[in-house]
Amino acid sequence: MVPLYAARMDDLKPGDLVLVECGACGHDGLIHPSALPSLGLGPDERVVDMAPRLRCRDCDAKGEGRRID
Ligand SMILES: [Zn+2]
Repeated sequence: MVPLYAARMDDLKPGDLVLVECGACGHDGLIHPSALPSLGLGPDERVVDMAPRLRCRDCDAKGEGRRID
C-alpha cells in the first residue's frame, strides 16, 4: 500500500476518496478521484500536487490545501 501523500494518480482506486484540509480556515472536503483529471493532474503526478490547485469552498482561499489523507 502506497502512502497517500506519496501516491500518484495512477495508484488511486476508483473507490478512494482524498481528504484535503484548507490551511486558511480548516474546512476540509473529500475529493473523488474521478474529479482529479479536471484539475489537470496526469497519471504520473503525485496526489499532493493537486492541493495548490484547489480552491476552498468556504473561504475561497486558493493554494491553501495542506493535508491529504
Ligand atoms: Zn478555507
